[in-house]
Amino acid sequence: MLSTINDAALTKVAEALGEEEAVKLIEILKNSEETTDDVIANDAGIRLNTVRKILYKLYDHSLVSLRRTRDPKTGWFIFHWKLQPDQLDGFILSQKRRVLEKLNIRLEYEKNHDFFYCYTPGCRRIPFEDAVELVFRCPTCGKPLMHYDNDKMVQALTKKVEQLRKELGE
Ligand SMILES: [Zn+2]
Repeated sequence: MLSTINDAALTKVAEALGEEEAVKLIEILKNSEETTDDVIANDAGIRLNTVRKILYKLYDHSLVSLRRTRDPKTGWFIFHWKLQPDQLDGFILSQKRRVLEKLNIRLEYEKNHDFFYCYTPGCRRIPFEDAVELVFRCPTCGKPLMHYDNDKMVQALTKKVEQLRKELGE
């Protein structure tokens, strides 16, 4: 089961969580049956607070399970974490679906709009409706707005959408 988790999948999870360190952390969890946040922090060389923050994020998505015991000597709680690999696949799938949804919305937007652009780096493209109101002057730099061909963007988005659909088996 665990062998099905490849590095690409781990990176996707980390990206989705917005935490680069999550990759390292999941790697460690992957290689141990159950482990504590102290051990993870030590092994990964990541600060304990950061480790805990990421672990709780993973926990929120049911990607790890948590078991709490009490240290008989100190009376403090010890948190034992375990990776839920079957949940990981589901998580990646739902992330992919979300990305696909966003890409589709973006693609439709690109297809349904005519864009105008001043061709100044850093300025943004303006849809036709707005460009008319601006009398075809860029609101940022004041240069004239000219038609912008978004065919390449539409093609790139279409390709990405198709690839994701394939991955999702749609
Ligand atoms: Zn401009």
